[in-house]
Amino acid sequence: MAKILVVAEIKAGKLKSSTTELLSKAKAIGAEAAVVAVGANIDSLLPDLVQAGSSTQYIADDAGLQLFSAGPYAAAVVDAARQFEADMIWFGFSESGKAVAPRVAAQLDAACATEITDIDISGDQIEVIRPAITNKVMQRVKINTPKLVAVVRAGAFEADEGLTGSENVVNLDVPESDLKAIIKELVSDASGEIDLADADVVVSVGRGVKDQAGIDMVRELANDLNAGFGSSRAMVDGGFMAHNKQVGQTGKIVAPTLYMAIGISGAIQHLAGMNGSKVILAVNKDPEAPIFNVADYGIVGDLFEVVPILREEINKLRS
Ligand SMILES: Cc1cc2nc3c(=O)[nH]c(=O)nc-3n(C[C@H](O)[C@H](O)[C@H](O)COP(=O)(O)OP(=O)(O)OC[C@H]3O[C@@H](n4cnc5c(N)ncnc54)[C@H](O)[C@@H]3O)c2cc1C
Repeated sequence: MAKILVVAEIKAGKLKSSTTELLSKAKAIGAEAAVVAVGANIDSLLPDLVQAGSSTQYIADDAGLQLFSAGPYAAAVVDAARQFEADMIWFGFSESGKAVAPRVAAQLDAACATEITDIDISGDQIEVIRPAITNKVMQRVKINTPKLVAVVRAGAFEADEGLTGSENVVNLDVPESDLKAIIKELVSDASGEIDLADADVVVSVGRGVKDQAGIDMVRELANDLNAGFGSSRAMVDGGFMAHNKQVGQTGKIVAPTLYMAIGISGAIQHLAGMNGSKVILAVNKDPEAPIFNVADYGIVGDLFEVVPILREEINKLRS
């Protein structure tokens, strides 16, 4: 039976859904699934880690791990992987996962496959599926090392909410030597807006909205839906939107349940960041806009007329 170690994603003291998604997949393929959680004061997460489906919980809890720092986090994951004798170590597709995974792979002499959307295991043979060339092709990659470190794209696997595991806690030592460099302070975006990576619905604006008044109008739609508010690069380059709102090849990759592209043409670099979304709705006045090639629902029309109607209808349904 394959042994899979899932690296828990913790944000603001809470376990992220990606942890349950990865553990669900590990269980679905018949693997023995353990989880490793790294941080400070994370005892209270134990019930959630068990509930998410793990059979062993490796915990590295130390004041020096309060803020994310790739080196110390990698050391803890490597320790857990060695103790568990993991065949595979799975990370979610987050900034921290992407930073830690290659370090862990190097220390374990394992292959490192990033952005995977699926995994096939047959006996000793492992193959992963991943997009390449800005999502234009899907690659099937055969892994030739005994161990694999994988970074899994958000939303690639379904969470099984009915899962439960069993409590078997292993506390990891955090030696001083693992804390060579620790982050002392993080200054986060103070806007209070929903993080695009966590949002279940994302509404994004493109050059079609023209100016700040257009942005503000579409932001109201995002607020109605409690959605993350994103952007094409054109609006970032134009100075209207912050870079952390950019979706695409050189921005964030999102895979929400619903993605609404408002006044976005659908350039390949934008699609690379959102075409894994479950449902895509596009509003564009040009019926030939490439965004309609990936949209599940397309509205051809002037966004300044369409968005107020959408808001009205959504608010009617809500009330
Ligand atoms: C190396 C590289 C990396 C890049 N990375 C990214 C990236 O990460 N993310 C990204 O988004 N782009 C990226 N780009 C840029 C990308 O190629 C496009 O230029 C950009 O996505 C276009 O943004 P847009 O769709 O907002 O603007 P446009 O292409 O100008 O499209 C605006 C759309 O709005 C529609 N429109 C206009 N008025 C209205 C109206 N009143 N009602 C309805 N529709 C209207 C138009 O029909 C048009 O389709 C990258 C480019 C390069 C070269």
